[in-house]
Amino acid sequence: MNKKIKYFIYISAIALYAFIGIYSTNYVTDWITSEYFDTLGDKAIDIAKITLNKYHITNDEVSELMSLSFADSLEHPANKRFMKLFEGREFSRDFKYAYIISKLKPEQVKYYVTVENSELFEADPDTPLDIIWLVDAVINQGEYEEDYYDDINRYTHLRTSEEIKVYEERKQKCVFTRDEYGNAITGYVPIYTTENDFLGMVGIDINFDRFEKNARMVRFSFILIFMLPTILLTLFFILVYFENRLDLRQETNTDPLTSLYNRRYLNNCMPLIVKSHCKNQSNLSVIMLDIDFFKKYNDNYGHQKGDEVLIRICAAISSALRSANDIACRYGGEEVILILKNTNLSGATYVAERIKNTIHGLAIEHKYSDVSDIITVSQGIYSAIPLRADKKTEEQFIAYADKALYEAKNSGRNKYIVYTE
Ligand code: GH3
Ligand code: MG
Ligand code: MG
Repeated sequence: MNKKIKYFIYISAIALYAFIGIYSTNYVTDWITSEYFDTLGDKAIDIAKITLNKYHITNDEVSELMSLSFADSLEHPANKRFMKLFEGREFSRDFKYAYIISKLKPEQVKYYVTVENSELFEADPDTPLDIIWLVDAVINQGEYEEDYYDDINRYTHLRTSEEIKVYEERKQKCVFTRDEYGNAITGYVPIYTTENDFLGMVGIDINFDRFEKNARMVRFSFILIFMLPTILLTLFFILVYFENRLDLRQETNTDPLTSLYNRRYLNNCMPLIVKSHCKNQSNLSVIMLDIDFFKKYNDNYGHQKGDEVLIRICAAISSALRSANDIACRYGGEEVILILKNTNLSGATYVAERIKNTIHGLAIEHKYSDVSDIITVSQGIYSAIPLRADKKTEEQFIAYADKALYEAKNSGRNKYIVYTE
C-alpha cells in the first residue's frame, strides 16, 4: 500500500480513538452525574415527606411565629418540635440541613446571606420577602465552618420576579433543584397547617460537592485512560515513521552486497568534504582499491564464491578503518574507494599498509592469481590539500587515486602506489 495512505490511516485511527474516547467519557460522566442528581433529589424529597408525616403545626402557632424575632422564633415550641425530628438522626452522610420556607414580615428579615466570596446581597426595599429559613435543623455539618450554622441572621429572600415565579410553581408540588451556589440538591415538599392552610415548603438540602470532586476525578481518569494510549500510539507512530525514513536513507546510501557506502553516497558527500577541506586547508586523502585477478577467481571458483570473498574483503577493509572520519564506498564491481578526511599522505599510506596486511591475514586461497596464492589487492593513493572547492577538484582526487592504482597494477599488483605528477 502507498506509504502516504498508510500514514493517513494510522493518524486517522489515532485521532478517531481519541475523539471517541473523550466524547464517550463526557457522555458517560454527564449521564452518571444527572442520574446521581435525580437519585439525590428523590432522596431529599423522601426525607422531607417522612419527616412531615410526624410534624403538625397549627394556624395559631404560625401567627405566633410570625410575630417573633428570628432569635425568639427558634425558641418557639413549633420550631423546637421541628428541630427535634432531626435530632440524632443521620439520614445520610450527605444530608446537610432541613428548613421550613415560609412567609415572613419584612421587619423580621435582615437582608443578607453570605456566600463563599463574602459578597453581600442587599435586597431592594420593595422586594417581596416571601421565603426564609424558619428553622435550620443542622443534621450534618460536613465541611462547613461552625459559625456558618450559628449565624442566626442567615436569612435569604427571593430577589427577582423570575425567582418568585419559580417559587409559586414549587408551592404546588414536590420538586428538587440544585441550589444557586451549586453545593446541594434541595428537595422541596409543601407544608400545610393542621387547618390545611399552605404554610410554605420544607426544604431538605443534600450536599453534593464531594460528589462533584469525585466526578471530576472520574472524568479525569477516563480521559487519561483514553489519552495515554493515544499519546503512546502517537509516539510509536512517530518512531516507526522516522525509523522507516532512516532505514530508507540508509538503504539508498548502502551497497546491499557489501554493506559499504555506495557511489550515490560518494557523489553526495564528496562536494561537502572537498569544500570543508578547502576551507580549512587540511589534507584529504583518497585510496582506490581493486582486488587482483578477481576475474580469474570468479572463473575458477565460481561467482558465488567470488561474492563471498568480496563481502569478506570489504568487511576487512571496514575493520581496518578505525576512524569514523574514514568513508569506504564500493566504487565498482570489486573496487573500493576510501575517503580519509583530515589525513595526510603518511596517514594514508599507513591505512593502505594496514589494509594490505589485514587482507593478507585473511589468507583467502587464490591458486589462479599471478602474484600470490592468496587474494591480494592493489591500491592507489592520492593526498593533497584541495585548492578549490569545485567539481573538477572532486573528480581530480578520484582520478589521481585511480591513476596510482593503475600504476600499482602495472608494476606488479599486491601493493600501493602514491600518485605523483
Ligand atoms: P586486475 O584487477 O588484477 O587487473 O584483474 P581483475 O580480474 O580483478 O580485473 P578487473 O578488476 O577488471 O575485473 C573485475 C572482475 O571482478 C570482473 C568480475 O568477474 C569481478 N566482479 C566484479 N564485481 C563482482 C561482484 O559483485 N561479484 C563477483 N563475484 N565478482 C565481481
Ligand atoms: Mg581487479
Ligand atoms: Mg576492477
